[in-house]
Amino acid sequence: MIKVFKFGGASIMDVQNIKNVGNILQKYDSQELVIVFSAMGKVTNMLEDVVDSYVQKSANTNVALQKVKDFHATILSGIFKENHPIFDIVNNLFVEIEWVLEDEPNQHYAYDYDQIVSVGEFLSTQIMSAYLQQVGFENTCLDVRDLIRTDNTHRNAKIDWEITTDSIKRNVKKKHSVTQGFLGCTSENFTSTLGREGSDFSAAILAFCLDASELVIWKDVPGMMNSDPKYFPDAKLLSQVSFDEAIELAFYGAKVIHPKTIQPLKQKNIPLLIKSFLSPEAEGSIISSRSDNTNDMSSFIVKENQILISVSDVNLSFIVGNHMNQIFSILAKNNVDVNLMQNSAISFSICVDNDQHKVPQLIKDFQQFYEVLYNDDLSLFTIRHYNDNSFDSFLHDKDVILEQRSRNTVQLISR
Ligand code: ASP
Ligand code: MG
Repeated sequence: MIKVFKFGGASIMDVQNIKNVGNILQKYDSQELVIVFSAMGKVTNMLEDVVDSYVQKSANTNVALQKVKDFHATILSGIFKENHPIFDIVNNLFVEIEWVLEDEPNQHYAYDYDQIVSVGEFLSTQIMSAYLQQVGFENTCLDVRDLIRTDNTHRNAKIDWEITTDSIKRNVKKKHSVTQGFLGCTSENFTSTLGREGSDFSAAILAFCLDASELVIWKDVPGMMNSDPKYFPDAKLLSQVSFDEAIELAFYGAKVIHPKTIQPLKQKNIPLLIKSFLSPEAEGSIISSRSDNTNDMSSFIVKENQILISVSDVNLSFIVGNHMNQIFSILAKNNVDVNLMQNSAISFSICVDNDQHKVPQLIKDFQQFYEVLYNDDLSLFTIRHYNDNSFDSFLHDKDVILEQRSRNTVQLISR
């Protein structure tokens, strides 16, 4: 039965890691596989800089693009001989970006973003496919635009499951296929993206449509941890996690998997393994319907760069059903997801990611109808399965401005 593997940016960020991925895959040579790659290293961020300077008509756009070219040139020279056809393929992909940059920015930031940022994934998959071929791992590089159909909500595109299922079933034929994460294609044939870190979701879509026996996400951490090792040095591995708990953890911002990843897997009961590409023999975490949550170990999740927006009626009347209706329509219109909300008699507060391309317009739209107050530069902390101990140790140095508790979860917003 076919399996889907996903390798993120860190796993292919330099020559050494690329070779490591080659070694891992050679061990699975007899296995039918679809392998999804993100852009290499921090290339998506670098391409976001290109887009930003392009839309601001900054003179630095070419400098920003040159960084992306240099990064890939170093990789290419580390793994291929000078006359390898990959050099032309990579050059042509950069020409595609240059074509976009030649035109004036057209006010459709999200559309421009998708056309430029998507090239990171085309670069990584072409390079990885050629490298794997070179080390004897036969594979076909598929253009995910022939596989995943989306609507035209650029930067946050929604899947058309019917067309996608049909296209994937028709086009994934070979024993080993390599394809791009994070991307899709609109009905007008434009490239779309599924939201940052979306290639986990891409891998889950492929696993779902192919009825895969499992999805393996290869990471630079040992598996799903009870906290982000970046903030908590004694983070512990959750070796077994149920689908439902994984959805909750990802929803609250656990960075190890994209929140949309679990639903399709749960629907078809496809186990998700999170394994370390640094120690591929280690077991990692298994997320499945059979998994018992390891125990009720507390999990800590941090989301940074949050903004808390409070709206109240200009006449200080109660916030009631029709206000809610309007508040949610404004959120939907601006494509903003809410991380936490709370209401009092006369105000309604929402905590959202402070995305500079969405939030200023959101605030303007609210201001047409409401008195709006906001507080930025905040962090949202979530503790799942909290207890007095985990709560106190976590809280002692925080300036908490809002707190919300349920039986299993505490959320705090702090400065
Ligand atoms: N390359 C994209 C990003 O960095 C998608 C992904 O890695 O999942 O967000
Ligand atoms: Mg990534």
